[in-house]
Amino acid sequence: MPVRILTQEQVTQLLPMPACLDLMDEALRTMTRGGAILPLRTMLRLPEGKGIFGSMPSYLNPPDAIGLKAITVFPGNEGTAYDSHQGVVLLFEATHGSLVAILDATSITAIRTAAVSGVATRALAKPDAGDLAILGAGVQALTHLDAMAAARPLRRVRVWSRTPGSVAKFVALARGRHPVVVEAAPTAEAAVRGADLICTVTSSRVPILERRWLADGCHLNVVGASLAAARELDSDTVAAARVYTDRRESLLAESGDFLIPRSEGRFGDEHLIGEIGEVLEGKVEGRRTATDLTLFKSLGLAIEDLAAAHFVTQRAAERGIGTVLEIGGLRHD
Ligand code: NDP
Repeated sequence: MPVRILTQEQVTQLLPMPACLDLMDEALRTMTRGGAILPLRTMLRLPEGKGIFGSMPSYLNPPDAIGLKAITVFPGNEGTAYDSHQGVVLLFEATHGSLVAILDATSITAIRTAAVSGVATRALAKPDAGDLAILGAGVQALTHLDAMAAARPLRRVRVWSRTPGSVAKFVALARGRHPVVVEAAPTAEAAVRGADLICTVTSSRVPILERRWLADGCHLNVVGASLAAARELDSDTVAAARVYTDRRESLLAESGDFLIPRSEGRFGDEHLIGEIGEVLEGKVEGRRTATDLTLFKSLGLAIEDLAAAHFVTQRAAERGIGTVLEIGGLRHD
């Protein structure tokens, strides 16, 4: 059967951020309506903390498709030419189970993660939120700038990261990308003081953000940590916030930002208000007042990769983009 192979550049070209927000909105709603089969991902940890090999299978209907993201996460790649997230998404159709496409997963991960934060921002941030702070200056920082610009008109953007050189590089890359000035902040506190939109996108395993720095009413997209032992926020922030996530089961298994303060007795599982798909479908209440602190904890779901892969493959087929190969799949007799 013909299989379409799509590169990092082709995926990036075919998956513009505003379209990806709408796509993720629909995929999360579909999951809430019962249209997804989604086991927890398998994380194979390599010796000496070198990296992780993640396996993320799922089924989603619509579009009645099967997917598998196979991805390595090597945080030590920072500062090299290699992305910290590399792999492929395999897309199968669900009539005969045939493989349809193989897509670069670095680009899909970069774009779909930020798009989901964009969806959470549209659902939970104050309508006039537009003073953005980004903590972290890597791949996700840049796509989160695009996603926040797609979710709300931005008035101001401040960026902080651990290494000043990373911030300088980010500011240069971000210049002219959106009609807003991007400022380098000297500390995380200076970045978030007075902000009403905050994205944390670092590989830190310990808190980089403190409750006492936060203005009333701000919305946080908390993206970096996705292991039970790692977190980006202090316990006070999580305890003070209305907490939402992409998927309940993932949060309770994989999120140190939630599990560590829970283990300290700060709150129980009921502190999680619900999933973003549930907010979108009107099953769970979102922000209630202009002073609520809302927090979206992103873990990253296989259905997000699958929905993105399906969309990109359709557009590629319409436009004749990609390399098509006959790999197999016919009866072997
Ligand atoms: P990059 O490697 O491109 O960037 C990593 C960033 O983390 C850099 O800004 C770096 O800062 C910062 N950082 C690393 N270690 C520390 C530390 N100890 N303290 C503070 N900052 C630190 O990674 P990505 O942008 O691709 O990913 C960022 C995070 O998001 C990762 O943890 C990744 O696993 C997670 N992620 C989550 C997804 C989800 O679905 N929720 C999906 C994809 C990624 P500097 O350069 O200034 O040193």
